[in-house]
Amino acid sequence: MEQCLLDEKRALMDDHEAAKRLTDAGVLVPCWRCGGEAELQEIHTGGKPVYAVSCKKHHCGAYGCAHQTKKNAVAYWNTRAPILSAEEVEILYGKENP
Ligand SMILES: [Zn+2]
Repeated sequence: MEQCLLDEKRALMDDHEAAKRLTDAGVLVPCWRCGGEAELQEIHTGGKPVYAVSCKKHHCGAYGCAHQTKKNAVAYWNTRAPILSAEEVEILYGKENP
């Protein structure tokens, strides 16, 4: 979850004008992995619901991190880089982050 928030800040700081416009319009870009349709999901974890965007194709399995607002979840999906496996993320962040 912390990692997601870091990514989100980075996305907001970076110049992602096109993605921002899409996000403002409530548009989800197609899945970066398979080009399929994406959908916003409401996830109930016991407290307040959180939101995450995932690919509609179950065999694809692409997903964005959960966020506290729909807009942030959409922004994350629209601006994020290709998805990495948990192992790849660990290797990457383990190396690059102090
Ligand atoms: Zn997909």
